[in-house]
Amino acid sequence: MSEPAVFTPVEMVRRLVAFDTVSARSNLDLIRWVADYLAGHGIAARLTYDEARTKANLFATIGPAEAGGGVILSGHTDVVPVTGQAWDSDPFTVVERDGKLYGRGTADMKSFLAIALALVPEFRARALKRPIHLALSFDEEVGCNGVGHLIADLPEGRARPRLVVIGEPTLMAVANAHKGSFVFRTTVTGLEAHSSAPQRGVNAIFAASEIIQFIAALASEARAEPLPGSGFVPPYTSFNVGMIEGGTAANIIPRHCAFTWEFRTLPGVEPEALRRRVDRFVEGELLPRLRQVHAEASVATEVLAQVPSLVPEERSPAEELARQLTGANDTIVVAFGTEAGLFQAAGIPAIVCGPGSIDQAHKPNEFIALEQIEAGAAFQRRLADWAAR
Ligand SMILES: [Zn+2]
Repeated sequence: MSEPAVFTPVEMVRRLVAFDTVSARSNLDLIRWVADYLAGHGIAARLTYDEARTKANLFATIGPAEAGGGVILSGHTDVVPVTGQAWDSDPFTVVERDGKLYGRGTADMKSFLAIALALVPEFRARALKRPIHLALSFDEEVGCNGVGHLIADLPEGRARPRLVVIGEPTLMAVANAHKGSFVFRTTVTGLEAHSSAPQRGVNAIFAASEIIQFIAALASEARAEPLPGSGFVPPYTSFNVGMIEGGTAANIIPRHCAFTWEFRTLPGVEPEALRRRVDRFVEGELLPRLRQVHAEASVATEVLAQVPSLVPEERSPAEELARQLTGANDTIVVAFGTEAGLFQAAGIPAIVCGPGSIDQAHKPNEFIALEQIEAGAAFQRRLADWAAR
């Protein structure tokens, strides 16, 4: 067997960014490469797949799994598209300039994973008393749809990880809360008729606009009840209707209208309760009226994404460890959703803390400062010190 491959964190960032893992594509090349790399260091990886088996999560454990009390370092492997963005260099070839590494995913969030992978030989060389787990997920950027398979596959009992650090870019600040994000597509089906005979048709656009007005009223209600001191901007649950389509001509009563909408919940706000209020309006008020004209009129809502909020937990072991390792006295809240809420919902305390800035994420010429890579590596080395104690 050949010598196990060794990378510096920066070399590993270059390697991971070179895999074009835009969410619409398969991430299997990256995952297989990582699994081989880990195997070279004597570490087995567990893969969990999407239904089509074109994408996978990877979970691996360094150190004594049976000892329990382990920490997961978790990040997503997918990146947002580069199409239509004006990049000064190839997004999938890391370019170093003025102390920064440019490339898609450098900030969000391959550098965090790259640091962890590059440090695997160091982790291995330590006599860890508690394991360090690595979790690499797929389809985060399209609604955190992948990591659920990994979470469902986590070991139970004593070997169950004790907490998780989600390495989304926070400039290494410790974030203990974010809003939830819930995205839906609602399709109204009415009945076509000549526009001169409204009594014979069911106008799907009128019906959709009533639901939209109901959502707008929920938005006003939420805005009127802010949670000052929550740290969030804005400090209330927000709503949006982002897309709408329907109808075929000015003189046809439209049979079809569909719109895409979302709400972003403050931690502690029950998304199901909001969804139920919309459903009650539709089923209790709107549909009975439509069905007086046309018995088959319908309203169907599908869930496109559901990312639960990260609820701040007093004295959470995840927060305490992250503060200890960073030396941070304060915590922050972040405006973006992460996989943290899904781990938390599975009973694993979660914190968001990683190198790089979200300000550079999703943009052309995305970058991470080299000093952030160093800060991220220092954090993970201190984690290894902690795990070896
Ligand atoms: Zn991200």
